[in-house]
Amino acid sequence: MSMQILEKAKMIMKNGYVCDHCLGRTFAQLTKGTTNSIRGKAIRDIFAFSAESGEKIEIDEINIDNYDFRNVKRKIKKQKPTCKICGNFFDGLGSISKKAIDKLSKFEYDNFVVGTKVSGDIAGREENLWEEVGAEHCEPIKAEINRELGKLLEKKTGRKADFENPDIVILLDMDKNDIEIKPSQVWVYGLYQKLARGIPQTKWPCRNCGGRGCEKCDGKGKMYPTSVEEIIAKPLIKAAKASASSMHGAGREDIDARCLGWRPFVMELQHPMKRKLQLKKLEKEVNRDRRVKVKLVKFCSKETARKIKAAKLTKTYKIIVAFEKPINKDDIKKILGIKNLVKQRTPVRVAHRRADLVRERRILGLKGRIISKKEAEFFVKTEAGMYVKELVSGDDGRTEPSFTGITNNKAKVKALDVVEIGKIKV
Ligand SMILES: [Zn+2]
Ligand SMILES: [Zn+2]
Repeated sequence: MSMQILEKAKMIMKNGYVCDHCLGRTFAQLTKGTTNSIRGKAIRDIFAFSAESGEKIEIDEINIDNYDFRNVKRKIKKQKPTCKICGNFFDGLGSISKKAIDKLSKFEYDNFVVGTKVSGDIAGREENLWEEVGAEHCEPIKAEINRELGKLLEKKTGRKADFENPDIVILLDMDKNDIEIKPSQVWVYGLYQKLARGIPQTKWPCRNCGGRGCEKCDGKGKMYPTSVEEIIAKPLIKAAKASASSMHGAGREDIDARCLGWRPFVMELQHPMKRKLQLKKLEKEVNRDRRVKVKLVKFCSKETARKIKAAKLTKTYKIIVAFEKPINKDDIKKILGIKNLVKQRTPVRVAHRRADLVRERRILGLKGRIISKKEAEFFVKTEAGMYVKELVSGDDGRTEPSFTGITNNKAKVKALDVVEIGKIKV
């Protein structure tokens, strides 16, 4: 048997007192199914036994102050000395857990995880110790605190720790001696229709003030009074007692376009205090607003939001096109002859926020009919990413072919509806 363990223990307890936790933590990787506190106590016992049997123990005797000896002429001390590493931090774990439980009482959660921001002083002293005695069997104090506080909280709350997908992160800041509760976001998968024109999909901060509120935006900080996101999120935020929302849509329709097809989206609710939302009830509440209709399908994960944002879904549009000059059946025939690839250089209207390049998008279906002297109605099915307004107008030759170009008659979109959106499996 190597003497290494006891030699190490001697070094640790040579000057000043080290508590069972900090002593045991130096040997944390040795054997399983026990605690650092028990490891530390076992080692300390060996030194106390040695002292009792008359051996010279070569440690600071303050480390065995609390033993009741038979032979050694020492009085048992009731007062526990202060650990030179942690300052007896672990003795306060019970009151920390009470504080945490008090704060947790406001939150709805099934599981949690504990995180600790270790005080710089303690981390420094721990590192110095490792330098002196070696770190090969040790564990950082952070890991022990997270585990021990986690065990206490499991016992007191009846909820389980979950390291993969916790509802709540309980963050202990040792320097501030404070507990912060960070609930993870609630993610709701749904589908929406936008039945009114003139509403953006998401909140659009005022261009003038960037959202702070100014004269131009009437102090509201946004360009439009409301958005699809705000209409859907309002009852959800209230029910979840969330701080804010963020909507992730599978693409977006133009502000002046309706969306009559069901568009998939994920609503992210930040800092929710409640998470067991009644989706059917909330769906009804949202649907009282006639401008937007939703189906709140189910709770989901961040992964679903990512998937939805990346999805390339086909779209079918209904377009009312106004021409400059009268049109005839031949014009419609020519337009319906547009097949396959349409080349689109980044439209002028979005050039300020998109790279200037030429994209190719496929037309998957095209139907149309004349509805008046200068107007026609079309149904166009396209790949994701087609700029439909430019397909009609030609954008001064930047989109090729176009309705304008092929008929030699200036065409522009009068009304636009998204009538169908490709399906996505979530
Ligand atoms: Zn300690
Ligand atoms: Zn403003």
